[in-house]
Amino acid sequence: MTKKIRRNNKKASLSRDPVIILLGHVDHGKTSLLDYIKRSKVNYEEYGGITQNIGVYKVNINKNNSLTFLDTPGHEAFMAMRYRGTQITDIAVVVIATDEDIMQPVKDAINNAKSVGIPIIFAFNKIDKNNSDIDKIRRKLAERNILVEEWCGAYQSQEISAKYGIGIDKLIEKIILEAELLDLKYSPENFAVGSIIESSLNKENGYTATIIIKDGILNLGDYILVGEIFGKVIKILDERGNQLKYVRPSRPVLIFGLNGAPNAGDIFHSYKTEKELKKIFSYQKEQDHTSDVKDVKQDQEKLNLIIKADLNGSLEALTESLEKISRNNKKINLIYKSIGNINESDVLLADTYKAMIVGFKVKISSAAQKLANNNNILIKVYNIIYKMEKKIKYFLSNNAKSSKREELIYGRAKIKNFFTIRKLGIVAGCIVLEGKMVRNSTIKLKRDDKILYVGQLNSLKSFKKDVKVVKKGSECGINLTNFNNLKIGDIIESYKENHNHLR
Ligand code: GDP
Repeated sequence: MTKKIRRNNKKASLSRDPVIILLGHVDHGKTSLLDYIKRSKVNYEEYGGITQNIGVYKVNINKNNSLTFLDTPGHEAFMAMRYRGTQITDIAVVVIATDEDIMQPVKDAINNAKSVGIPIIFAFNKIDKNNSDIDKIRRKLAERNILVEEWCGAYQSQEISAKYGIGIDKLIEKIILEAELLDLKYSPENFAVGSIIESSLNKENGYTATIIIKDGILNLGDYILVGEIFGKVIKILDERGNQLKYVRPSRPVLIFGLNGAPNAGDIFHSYKTEKELKKIFSYQKEQDHTSDVKDVKQDQEKLNLIIKADLNGSLEALTESLEKISRNNKKINLIYKSIGNINESDVLLADTYKAMIVGFKVKISSAAQKLANNNNILIKVYNIIYKMEKKIKYFLSNNAKSSKREELIYGRAKIKNFFTIRKLGIVAGCIVLEGKMVRNSTIKLKRDDKILYVGQLNSLKSFKKDVKVVKKGSECGINLTNFNNLKIGDIIESYKENHNHLR
């Protein structure tokens, strides 16, 4: 074990290829550009050998560089990943036809890429046309505070003609340069984490999914969990129909063996054993639902809701999504909605109507929180609409009453760094944020609110000494047996399962 982890540390990070998406308005030339790249960069034999339409192309540029292009309808996958607050791609190439204006979809594409924080390269297309006006496009971008390099800005851009193959090599050089700056890495000994590109069901193969791994390596026979869907990976195919034993990051593959069709943009995690997967799965299910269920005053007929959001746009999106859920379930009763933080009067209103308060990107005033605690009003605040929908749907389902496991949380700590100790393996250096960390308690490791690991806190250290408890504000070292996929910022929760205290 120790040996393995030390090995891990030595080659902790290898370079991975960038994943690129082409964005832009319809007819501006995305398909033509990808076609040209495929025709010119993927040699004919190889291109002819592509038997699996997996919506993603790996293009070998030279001995050292490969690029993975997400094919259209990349837009949908891209929107989905934004919606879920996740990130599949590393670089966005925004294609703009220079004989036209900058259209709304281009503006959306730029906003989307900016909001998920990935670099943008502009491809100014159709420069072969008589009415091509590149400066007009540069000016229009500048009006949106986007300055391209020629205009002393930070954004790379390239004039191209996708139809005649002009400027494509230079565009590819710029993509490679951007990728080098990103210095994309992965840890080969980690279990795989990645995204679903698309999924399908057919008679012959059952459920299949195209995936791209972001970190770690997926082996044949590993177990995959993606939301509520899971399965053993029984076959891995590349785009040419070759069966693979394992797959590295950024390489698009088709996997077989899932028990359902996950959504584009969903994040998956892999596990070595079925036992491990089931354990995480059942904890995730309980975490999603149990803790709040007892507090929601839901009469059997409908769920009363008060919603608060940061902006008008969010409030609209939230209302729309709730109305959609309500149409299908006929159970939501929207009492009140408005913009702003959650305050005492919201809580009083919630108390009157026995309602739950749902916030989107807002804060809860401390007086409101106190009042809510005293009156047993449930307030939930989300940053991602998808998560809110999932929770509301759950409240509306009848299963809400069934699951009951009481947990006594001792405290939470955040991982600040990690290091290897000879006899222990990887130790997470943490700061205790709330409560305390308790030796021999059960621990959960959470990333973005998802539980990735559940185990025992067997070794708790404070300044290299073994201790029983570490309190809020202090630093400590925690060893997670058999789990080496740690990230700075992960949260470790220490708690006691308390079956005697069921209410
Ligand atoms: P998409 O909808 O963004 O995928 O756009 P397409 O690649 O399908 O291109 C739309 C139309 O523009 C097609 O008729 C292409 O032949 C044409 N087109 C694409 N790139 C160029 C170009 O560089 N020059 C010219 N003249 N036409 C182009």
